[in-house]
Amino acid sequence: MGNSSLVLVSNRLPVDRVVRPDGQSEWRRSPGGLVSALEPVMARSGGAWIGWPGATEIEVEPFDVVPPNGGKTYRLVPVALSEQEFVDYYEGFSNNSLWPLYHDVITAPQYHRAWWDAHVLINRRFAEAAAREAAPGGIVWVHDYQLQLVPRMLRELRPDVAIGFFLHIPFPSFGIYAQLPWRTQIVDGLLGADVIGFQRVADARNFQRAVRRLLGYRTRTGRVFIPESEDKAARTVVVSDYPISIDAKEFRSLSATPSVQARAVEIRHELGDPRRVLLGVDRLDYTKGIVHRIKAFGELLSDGSLNPAEVSLVQVAVPSRERVESYRALRDEIELLVARINGDFGTLGHNPITYLHKGYPHDEMAALYRASDVMLVTALRDGMNLVAKEYVATRADNRGVLVLSEFAGASDELKTALLINPHDIEGLKENILRAIHMPALEQGRRMRPMRRRIAENDVSHWSASFLADLRGARAGDQVPLS
Ligand code: UDP
Repeated sequence: MGNSSLVLVSNRLPVDRVVRPDGQSEWRRSPGGLVSALEPVMARSGGAWIGWPGATEIEVEPFDVVPPNGGKTYRLVPVALSEQEFVDYYEGFSNNSLWPLYHDVITAPQYHRAWWDAHVLINRRFAEAAAREAAPGGIVWVHDYQLQLVPRMLRELRPDVAIGFFLHIPFPSFGIYAQLPWRTQIVDGLLGADVIGFQRVADARNFQRAVRRLLGYRTRTGRVFIPESEDKAARTVVVSDYPISIDAKEFRSLSATPSVQARAVEIRHELGDPRRVLLGVDRLDYTKGIVHRIKAFGELLSDGSLNPAEVSLVQVAVPSRERVESYRALRDEIELLVARINGDFGTLGHNPITYLHKGYPHDEMAALYRASDVMLVTALRDGMNLVAKEYVATRADNRGVLVLSEFAGASDELKTALLINPHDIEGLKENILRAIHMPALEQGRRMRPMRRRIAENDVSHWSASFLADLRGARAGDQVPLS
């Protein structure tokens, strides 16, 4: 038993190990949506954060971190993985089984029993680490699809702690979920939590249906009722949607920074001052619909709807999971498509697509958002899509048009975006044209309510409402605390 009243558990720790030229290693904060969302929670409360440190075959002792923007010191507790465990648990079961299954089988998931065995083993390792860190009666908040067995395992080890779980990716409909050979174990693993959070109402409903079909438990809106067993009293699990968000203040203030505004002007200039700049920013992942977007843009050029000299599409594609074959194949497909379109419609001075296979810090992202007339988010399936929210938060000038896939969680909140079905290429093309030609008045009318929504429902609202429900659920629950 430990002394942390709050323990976060996620697959990755929020730091990367960097080896300096002198051979010494140091830790650097790693970027990413999950880190931006959870770092402020730790800085506010202190506690421990359990996760894999990003390199295999190393044993690292727990160490303290002083939050970069002030707040309480917290402890990082590394969970070691061997190379083979990383291959089976992470690249295998997490990225080749669960990720495609939970994103509506956009590519075919693979199921291997050895991957599952590693998944169980590693989930147990995380659960044991959490059981060691948590103070008596403390809170443990487990994150994401790699760790769905942890709540049940942890409850068995530490029935005194309040356990929350949040799934950052979608939960699929039962027709798809039912494929999973270990479907019952995963649902049962999640039900070890007191509160299970999803991005969308639809995800929570899909999960409750899986519970009814696989375990026969009774559910009603927002609750699953777990019947009494021989040795345990009946229990209620809260199941609800908690749409994750961004640090809206950070993007609003970046957008007001003179250097960001100057950089936005410079970006347009570097692109040759085209009449319209379109932007896509994604991890290079098949869920993001990058091919659909570029195909639609290419067709608008080839059918004469757009003049290649007057438009620029900037596509940032952040390298991702490069050891997985389907990601390598996707990269080839995108790069071939971009090269064809630039070959067909480019001139010596101007290419219609600027393709950047790299990631950028937030100030450059904010400048890109400010420089773009149209933001294209065409995900085929996405838990939330923070980029869509960041674009809105950055447009303090109430300009710019967000074209947003209805298959991204963000579309539940950003209702005045131009909502599209990315599979419908004709519809996508029409909406890109509509965005390009949208009068300033309409841009403002659509942007304002979205900006208000993101300002109110920012990331601190997200974590506070989840943790409030977790405390409430535990205070009112019927399980005798041992
Ligand atoms: N991001 C970044 N630099 C980049 C591209 C993306 O910092 O060059 C950040 C972006 O600002 C956002 C996150 O990465 O906060 C991506 O989150 P999103 O939900 O859009 O997609 P995910 O990668 O989690 O699927």
